[in-house]
Amino acid sequence: NPLVGNVIGEGHVNYVLMYNMLTGIRTAFSRWQAKARRPLTEEDFTACHKYSFDIIGNELTPSAKYDFKFKDYSPWVFRELREDYFHIEPADYLVSLTAKYILSELGSPGKSGSFFYFSRDYRFIIKTIHHNEHKFLRRILKEYYNHVKNNPHTLLSRFYGLHRVKLPRGRKIHFVIMNNLFPPHKDIHETYDLKGSTVGREYPEEKAQKNPRAVLKDLNWINRGKTLELGPEKRALLTEQLRRDSELLKRLYVMDYSLLVGIHNMQRGNKDNVRRNTLKVFSPEIHPLTRRKKTQSKGPSSPEAIALRRIMRESDPVRLDSAGPTIQLPDEDIGGERQYFIFYQDEGGLRATDETNGDMDTIYYLGVIDILTPYTTFKKLEHFWKGLKADRHKISPVPPVEYGNRFFSFMKAIMRGGEGGAKFKSE
Ligand code: ATP
Ligand code: CA
Ligand code: CA
Repeated sequence: NPLVGNVIGEGHVNYVLMYNMLTGIRTAFSRWQAKARRPLTEEDFTACHKYSFDIIGNELTPSAKYDFKFKDYSPWVFRELREDYFHIEPADYLVSLTAKYILSELGSPGKSGSFFYFSRDYRFIIKTIHHNEHKFLRRILKEYYNHVKNNPHTLLSRFYGLHRVKLPRGRKIHFVIMNNLFPPHKDIHETYDLKGSTVGREYPEEKAQKNPRAVLKDLNWINRGKTLELGPEKRALLTEQLRRDSELLKRLYVMDYSLLVGIHNMQRGNKDNVRRNTLKVFSPEIHPLTRRKKTQSKGPSSPEAIALRRIMRESDPVRLDSAGPTIQLPDEDIGGERQYFIFYQDEGGLRATDETNGDMDTIYYLGVIDILTPYTTFKKLEHFWKGLKADRHKISPVPPVEYGNRFFSFMKAIMRGGEGGAKFKSE
């Protein structure tokens, strides 16, 4: 069927999903935001609110095909996290996430199959997560919340919302909204994803030379002889926060997380346009249903078409006025929440310092990411299989306590004055 064929395909699938996510977020957000804040209760941590969205169709576009359901988890908890601890302005949040353009790094950067979408201003990331990660976040939400409350400068991913979209035929997609560690106004010249494990933790150097956007790993860091250049003051602060954060992760019994480190070299500045050139606009024009009506409906004035257009006009948060291949990001710091956090205060990040705590020409953008993997039976299996081949303590899926200890010692080792990461290398 050519009519159906038109709307199937990768771009389409992603578009509908994106459209549903943003429509859900916007609707749920507006509903809760309209209410007065109240103190949290126990139930707020397990709360779940359901929404159904009906898109009117006709015989060619049966509505059921586009209807979707949306779930909003613990809205009061996330609202309090956003407003009181993460310093996100409600209006900013809504506008950023539902603006006309959504940037996308198409495809999945990790091997987990997650998708990442950036908000138009590059401030927020939507990450689709596995059902297990979703269940896990719900289970630990109270502890996460308490940790954030007691550690305003935590380096852990800042979760702003947890949601689920259910597509027709039952496909369920869970996702979180979180902070983008990398700023919109600075090129990132090198990126490292560090776990404190060295087995298999190398991005091929030949490829890295050609691709400045590659995400490098522990062995690249060690072999390039890199150091986190921080003077005594910042070193002490960062070490203490990493210690507290990894203590929590050990207690939560998670693993596989990493310290993401983006490095901006102030001498190079933005002139290489490392990032800017490659940002692509997520570019579906309008909801595919509307697009199809335009080209294929019998007449633009059929009652359904008119009703549909009105609904789309009122509800479409991601319509593009004009398509463009890239987005111009601001050269100036757009300000916002980063000013409140010691590790994100210098141009949105942490500026390198010398031994007298004087500024150096590097800015680090760092945080602990991918923190929702519990030590499940799957990992136990992986541990078993990998353990047969390599040194048990150096492979990445060791049990959580060991993982956390190794993670923390590695991060201490790679700071200036530490003994370096080489001892973590396998012989
Ligand atoms: P895997 O489980 O295979 O490691 P994943 O799909 O769980 O992959 P992550 O490890 O969360 O993905 O992230 C993959 C990459 O995406 C990171 O190495 C980093 O380059 C980028 N990334 C993830 N989270 C952020 C963030 N908060 N800010 C900036 N970049 C991020
Ligand atoms: Ca990861
Ligand atoms: Ca992961």
